[in-house]
Amino acid sequence: MIRIAIAGIGKIARDQHIPHIAANRDFELIAAVTRHEPPSGVSAFTTIGEMMAAGLGVEAIAICTPPIGRLALVREAFDHGLDVLIEKPPAATLSEAEQFATIAGQADRVLFVTWHLREAAAVEPACKWLADRTMRSVRVDWRENVRVWHPGQEWIWQPGIGVFDPGINALSVITRILPGPLCVEASELRFPSNKPAPIAASLTLKGPNPATIAVEFDFDQRGPQCWDIAVETDGGTLQLADGASKMAVDGVPVEVGDEAEYARLYRRFAELIAARRSDVDLAPFRLVADAFLIGRRSEVGPFGE
Ligand code: NAP
Repeated sequence: MIRIAIAGIGKIARDQHIPHIAANRDFELIAAVTRHEPPSGVSAFTTIGEMMAAGLGVEAIAICTPPIGRLALVREAFDHGLDVLIEKPPAATLSEAEQFATIAGQADRVLFVTWHLREAAAVEPACKWLADRTMRSVRVDWRENVRVWHPGQEWIWQPGIGVFDPGINALSVITRILPGPLCVEASELRFPSNKPAPIAASLTLKGPNPATIAVEFDFDQRGPQCWDIAVETDGGTLQLADGASKMAVDGVPVEVGDEAEYARLYRRFAELIAARRSDVDLAPFRLVADAFLIGRRSEVGPFGE
């Protein structure tokens, strides 16, 4: 059993990490690094240092705090000899995220930079289906209402986040299933007049294949929510829906199973720890950084809850 702690007991820790650690025989949740109430039956500490001083034998930690402020946490975790799993997006900046891998290597620890949506049921079947087909066009539609999915989360409006918090999930899927590397060719970012992060974005991406990849992110979707990817190929159109949990080809559903993303994520973390191997792919985060770097900015009306 790997004795694990969680840092940051918020929505994702409660909804996914705590139940999936409990359901995984390779892990035992021992402690939480939190400023608030810990999960029941778990010891709580305000810092990783305090937790390690308590001598509970913690061996690994899942970082579930918002992306800003993670560098100090990750450094402290490696200083104390912990293996580390990081929620997406990995950090506040690309240079911070790149440092994580260096520090993990220096500390000889396992680092798992996770992309939970890559564990969605249709992602690997989609990879296989696309492998021997030629892409003609790709369309990503990621539209959700921030008020419903992120109520009261002030951190989501910090610079560099906004609609890219859900959007990076779509980028994590397309960087897995499409031939790469992908580059940002054009980016339009729409900022509410009262927020320092975009509420919507339109991107054009290009890979080695001539097909254009059109991406639409909207954080102000009032009607039906959608997390869809469509890939038109020489052998039919692949559709991934509901965050790559469903797959269809030319409108005909394909059975892909329904194993939970975080069950697979923790199985993979246990395998990485057993093999003493890290998994750090920053490709989705690099696309976000480039979208900001070359993005044309416009202002839209003020955001209201
Ligand atoms: P959240 O509900 O706001 O929880 C974040 C937790 O981090 C807080 O409850 C707090 O825990 C801790 N924290 C430390 N410093 C903080 C700060 N400056 N501001 C706010 N919280 C701080 O956020 P979340 O939705 O769980 O998201 C956390 C991470 O998981 C993000 O990177 C997000 O992209 C990712 N994620 C979220 C979802 C989702 O559906 N919500 C899905 C997948 C991934 P303590 O009270 O314990 O200190």
